[in-house]
Amino acid sequence: MKAAVYHGIKNIRIEEIETPACGKDEIRVKVNYCAICGTDVRIYFHGHKKVIPPAVIGHEITGVIDEIGSGVSYSEPLKKGDKVALVTSIGCGKCKMCGKGLYNLCPDTKAIGYFYPGGYAEYVTVPAAAVKQNAVIKLPDNISLKEGALIEALSCAINGQGYLNIGKGDTVVIYGGGPIGLMHAVLAQASGAEKVIMADPAYERLEKFAKQFGGLVLLDPKKVKIKDEVLRLTEGYGADVVITACPAKQAQVEGLELLGSRGRISMFGGLPKDDSFINIDSNIIHYKELSVFGSFASNRKDFMKAAELISQKKIEAGKFISKLLPLEKINEGIEMVKAGDVLKCVIEISAA
Ligand SMILES: [Zn+2]
Ligand SMILES: [Zn+2]
Repeated sequence: MKAAVYHGIKNIRIEEIETPACGKDEIRVKVNYCAICGTDVRIYFHGHKKVIPPAVIGHEITGVIDEIGSGVSYSEPLKKGDKVALVTSIGCGKCKMCGKGLYNLCPDTKAIGYFYPGGYAEYVTVPAAAVKQNAVIKLPDNISLKEGALIEALSCAINGQGYLNIGKGDTVVIYGGGPIGLMHAVLAQASGAEKVIMADPAYERLEKFAKQFGGLVLLDPKKVKIKDEVLRLTEGYGADVVITACPAKQAQVEGLELLGSRGRISMFGGLPKDDSFINIDSNIIHYKELSVFGSFASNRKDFMKAAELISQKKIEAGKFISKLLPLEKINEGIEMVKAGDVLKCVIEISAA
């Protein structure tokens, strides 16, 4: 089969490799689409400890079931030809977190597109451990395979907002105007947030892509003080919720400072691993009764919710896809995502 093989930093080559077998407890999927994630960009430019070259990366996958192993018993009926998306995180299946279905938090989590071969190839085999954890998500009929490639990214935002209890009247501030930041914005709107404010120093890009979603207040931190603006827009109360959808310390520190009483912050975007300490006045957490949350990847229930929101058109997935490229142009796609020239770039392995 044809695959984009990662051989190390800045080195992905299109090659003919052996089509993966489908073991008796496995499911093989013929891949149609795989969207480029920020982590693919990081793997491409900086490597990743769980991606050992040569490897096939890509985890925002949709395709159709091509083969079901003879030993597979699944939580719902599956058949050849079903349109599916795949849950990324696979747990060990034995630990306390796995016992709760929180495979993303398993200390030994292994992911499709990292440890296991991913979706930048014509076929991907869903490993037995993933089949056991119901990692195959059947797409609702009215979701196209192309739109379905957005489910993984959206599921991560859904997991992040799961803690934040966003509701009517809330003011939500989002740092970072990339695809994930915008997904957070439309999710917050769907949850009833009254004001959604977005800030990104790459303001031109934010403006260009946020325009089509409507109802968002956009701020340019190069021109205004975000804290002052948020206080002004909330009559001095501060924000109810802050989401940092960017790897920036300043967003975390400032985000805490502009929360009002009983505010919630999600440190959604991680910081670079060698530079992840911040300096905060913890008294603001104490006196204002703030809640600080983290978020990492997602699980089946978040995928199901993402599929439901897209299916009900509460989230217009198509709006996020600003570029479609063939597998041969994956390097170009990764460069475009890094440069911020595109919102979501989807690789089309086989048209559907
Ligand atoms: Zn992703
Ligand atoms: Zn585990």
